[in-house]
Amino acid sequence: RAVFAGAESSLLPTKIDVPRDISAAAFWRVAASALPSSEVCLPSVGTNPTRGGILKILSDLGADIRQDDVREVAGERVADLVVTQPAGSLNSNAKMVTWNGDLIPTAIDEIVVAAAAAGLFGRPCRFGDVAELRVKESDRIEQTARLLSGFGIDVSTSSDGFTVNGKGSATACSLDVNADHRVALTGAVLAMCAHGESELSGFDVAAVSYPDFVSHLRQLGGRCRILDNEPPMTIAIDGPAGAGKSTVASAVAGALGFSYVDTGAIYRCVALLALRESVVEGDEDHLETIVGKLSIRFEIVDGVNRVYLDGDDVTDAIREPAVSAASSRISGYGVVRRGLLDLQRDLAGEGGAVLEGRDIGTVVFPEAPLKFFLHADAGERARRRVKDLQALGQDSDLDEVLGGIHRRDELDRGRAIAPLIAADDAVTVDSTKLSARQVIDTIVAAARAELAARADGRQ
Ligand code: C5P
Repeated sequence: RAVFAGAESSLLPTKIDVPRDISAAAFWRVAASALPSSEVCLPSVGTNPTRGGILKILSDLGADIRQDDVREVAGERVADLVVTQPAGSLNSNAKMVTWNGDLIPTAIDEIVVAAAAAGLFGRPCRFGDVAELRVKESDRIEQTARLLSGFGIDVSTSSDGFTVNGKGSATACSLDVNADHRVALTGAVLAMCAHGESELSGFDVAAVSYPDFVSHLRQLGGRCRILDNEPPMTIAIDGPAGAGKSTVASAVAGALGFSYVDTGAIYRCVALLALRESVVEGDEDHLETIVGKLSIRFEIVDGVNRVYLDGDDVTDAIREPAVSAASSRISGYGVVRRGLLDLQRDLAGEGGAVLEGRDIGTVVFPEAPLKFFLHADAGERARRRVKDLQALGQDSDLDEVLGGIHRRDELDRGRAIAPLIAADDAVTVDSTKLSARQVIDTIVAAARAELAARADGRQ
């Protein structure tokens, strides 16, 4: 018997660690087992025996999966899984293995990727008692057979299961995978293991259960280009100097696996060159020449977005106060703004991108599906800037910093061409009383909703 108190008790905030999902981790277990010289550690994965059937299936296939630091988290069994490509060949040519009965409910969400593993490892096998897969998001038995056959793996289906007769390899192919997220994700694993390039259309359905998949694949050294008939998903974050745009935009891009473009850094590079070449105020021809020969590269090094101009690292140089002031002045010139448009659009690339600046939502990407205008009280922006400088060991005067912010605001808002204003369809966020985390979470949630809506529209 249980007796619960009524509405007089309120709920208090608490912190509960939730074990990581064994299903999402399964794709990397299979890829790491199949790809040469791989070793992947998947920390804190829930390995509750009622969900752990995939570990048994992979071990039957000969995969090398070590469970380190087995422990209990929130009442669940958890382990760090270390997956290595097994030494020597996998159990290929061994006799047929069958998985059915009580094992199946413990691996039901992983049957698709398990079937791919069987095909990649070349072990003849049968999955029985999986009729329930016919009424998942799709008829997963038929979709799995279609997927594996597409990659050149021999499969035959029956009413309650299928038999896989893989050769131990996969052949690259083009296939539509939009019927089911688990089929799409398994398709990506097969594509990673196949020789040549595979094209999976409708792949964004993968976001239903694993929105960061492509980002994780790239972190692991896998290669994937996102092609789409729809315009790529672009997120525009505009706002005045010091509103926290770069912190927010880079974190949002990281969370979504998108590229991050700091357009202010581009204007700053033009300003740095203009100072170095002592451009005379109003000499538009000289500015146009500088913009025409601009060679900028961005690279993330140890988590820091570094900027290279003509191959030299100018990350710190472009933050000097003289460059900040000059960038606000040169950005008022039409030759500069027009000359930088293509570069900004090119840097966004073919996949999703987060761009931050002053006119991204109004001029550079007016069609962006998500636009945010991030601002904060000028005093608060100045205080944040002073704090940042303190963290870098630099002393600064609050009034002086505030004066600089007011001057840059005036130039940005007052210029004739592409002045700083919120796009009509932008969501305005006043971050004065918000933490960066709160702003980041709001934008990431909106982006995930947009990605899910795009995936829905496809089905
Ligand atoms: O964002 P950040 O302060 O680094 O930008 C440097 C300068 O570049 C800004 O003061 C602004 O005048 C200019 N800028 C711009 N349009 C953009 C990005 C930056 O005019 N899209």
